[in-house]
Amino acid sequence: MPKGKAISKEELLDIDKEYKSLIKKLSPKSTKEDLKDLDKAYELILKAHKYQRRKSGEPYVFHPIEVARICFEEIGLGATSVISALLHDVVEDTSTTLIDIQELFGPKITKIVDGLTKLDGTYNVENKQAENFKKVLSSLVYDVRVVLIKMADRLHNLRTIGSMPEEKQIRIAAETSYIYTPLAHRLGLYNIKTEFNDICMMINDPDKYKEITEKLQASETDRNKYIKEFIKPLNSKLNELEMDYRVLGRSKAISSIYNKLEKKQVPLEEIYDLFAVRIIVDVPMDKEKSYCWQIYSIITDVYNPIPERLKDWITTPKSNGYESLHTTVIGPNGRYVEVQIRTERMDDIAERGFAAHWKYKGVKDNNNVYDKWLDNVRALLETQHSDALEFLNDFKSNLFHKEVFVFTPNGDMRVLPEGATALDFAFEIHSDVGYHATAIKVNNKLVPMGHILKNGDQIQVTTNKSQKPSEHWLKLTVTGKARSKIRSSMKEEKRQKGDLAKEALNRKLKNAKLDFEDNIDFLVKSNGYNNRPDYYFAIATGDLKMPDLKSYILENNKLVEKKPVELPSKGVQAPQDFQEKVKDSKRNDTKGQTKILVDGEPIDQYEYSLAQCCSPVQGDGIFGYLTSGKGLKVHRINCKNATHLLANYGYRVLKAEWGGQSETNFIAELTIIGVDSGPGVIQKITSEISNNLGINIRSFSISGHQGYFEGTVSIFVKNKDQLNVVIQSISKLDGVTNVNRVIKN
Ligand code: MN
Repeated sequence: MPKGKAISKEELLDIDKEYKSLIKKLSPKSTKEDLKDLDKAYELILKAHKYQRRKSGEPYVFHPIEVARICFEEIGLGATSVISALLHDVVEDTSTTLIDIQELFGPKITKIVDGLTKLDGTYNVENKQAENFKKVLSSLVYDVRVVLIKMADRLHNLRTIGSMPEEKQIRIAAETSYIYTPLAHRLGLYNIKTEFNDICMMINDPDKYKEITEKLQASETDRNKYIKEFIKPLNSKLNELEMDYRVLGRSKAISSIYNKLEKKQVPLEEIYDLFAVRIIVDVPMDKEKSYCWQIYSIITDVYNPIPERLKDWITTPKSNGYESLHTTVIGPNGRYVEVQIRTERMDDIAERGFAAHWKYKGVKDNNNVYDKWLDNVRALLETQHSDALEFLNDFKSNLFHKEVFVFTPNGDMRVLPEGATALDFAFEIHSDVGYHATAIKVNNKLVPMGHILKNGDQIQVTTNKSQKPSEHWLKLTVTGKARSKIRSSMKEEKRQKGDLAKEALNRKLKNAKLDFEDNIDFLVKSNGYNNRPDYYFAIATGDLKMPDLKSYILENNKLVEKKPVELPSKGVQAPQDFQEKVKDSKRNDTKGQTKILVDGEPIDQYEYSLAQCCSPVQGDGIFGYLTSGKGLKVHRINCKNATHLLANYGYRVLKAEWGGQSETNFIAELTIIGVDSGPGVIQKITSEISNNLGINIRSFSISGHQGYFEGTVSIFVKNKDQLNVVIQSISKLDGVTNVNRVIKN
């Protein structure tokens, strides 16, 4: 970090004030030793960060103090963590070493600071970000506090993100929603997760964010009045219970309102559950359940409940530890009101998750939800992964948002992520059961392996030793556990098969008097493979022919390049079945004159291409991504793959924008889902697009199953406005239920 202006006297006063206010809150809960260490840490960081400034210009040392405060106040961590949080950036950014820390603070704090230090830095090396995440996650297993402090660090960086350049903001937002948000959710850090979501939304869609914030503010008085009115008829009965309670009216997070708006496509004013009423009681542990249900009964005596909205997370807590009783009732003026009933302890856990959970550990349940989950993470870390990215993907699937509760034939409950299949269950029981699963019964009925499980299902797996996983199984599973097991089994199989091809290649090269080691990597690369095993395997399975050595140019007994060959030109072809339905339009060149500015400068049309996964059209929010070898790709900001790219290769991201209206046509792909209304449906959609709107169709395919149809249409449009007109017009057609832009994986 470059040397900046030293901390001034005035600034030091402010810094001192910050630190003292933290100590004031912390001291009732700290020992004398702790307080001494805190002061030592404070002295040390004042000196170490003396000449450092943040992007905003303020002294750097505000950052570790603020991170420490978040750890204590918002996550509920104790003195050891607060001291470590104060020190979290010194080893990375200053001349202070771990040995210094060890001498001053002893082994416990050193270990945490070491964990935090390892997590930072070295972004600018290929794939390093994924490695980095893997380290974050490994530290989770050895000391959860490291990850919790990391969360506080991320939170403060996000809160102060305004002073960062825009493309950096986009990258940080992507990284946050890629891994930090799901992790915060998994650790039960509800408030932090919500704030992550909100800040990411503010970065990705600032206009919508502002709109929702303003509308929420405008309606706040009304909302408060309504909550008072709602609670009034309940007051006397609640008082009869003779316990302390408080009532909160909380508006939903901006990001969750946004998601609702997106999903339901209705104006904000029509979303009825903009807020929830929360009733929090203070009762002893053994009375919790009965009090919560008594309150439920008081409420539903006055207001009519909607039975299917009743959720009892007290009897069966969520796997991130969340406990609460939820119901939705019809309140005054016929409005739907979500009511959450819980105790102070449950509220503490709901808001602060992991750390709060530790506080109450031992008081209640032995089947600790976090311990179980950590066991899972540990198992995943122990499984072989070919690279950190693969690990990350498996891990991410472990950070599921919703879960299903299912049962073994003996009645043991297992928790799986929503969307988990019968085969996932088999692997959940034991990897051997998974490997050899041949038939699976759900509720005594035979189901396909990929059958999606529902709450309460009872599952029975039959195995056979001769059964083994195949590539196809990856499509039938969603859990990280199952997928990593299948993958490693496939890898072994691949290796065995590939060995035969390797042998044959070896002979072939030998016959041509060429050395194997000198030439093999060239063959792998020139055939478009990244590694030898994949190449061997492709040959072994017949996907790829044995190389014709005569088609290469030789130099000093080494293959150097391919002799040029005439390739037949490939045209765009529509799916066979519906080929006749495809309107044959002139294949407009989609590149041509599109103008793109990168960092404000127009760039040459041959230097970039539009990403095919998300097919941006003029008017979409975009960014540039520098690929290795294929130039600059332009993606939409909300491209699913982009999140992954931004999170893992953020340093390759360039700011991009459209340079004025162009004459170019863009390809946009839409999926259309609807109720099957007979053979006329294709006609109706194509006629709407091409006759009524005058838009050229590039290709169209459709398939139907069980009364539903799903189609993909690819069209040429001038810009986003035109595309929106198309989407709206198709949505209005009879039988069409859903129209969406495609983002391919
Ligand atoms: Mn930091």
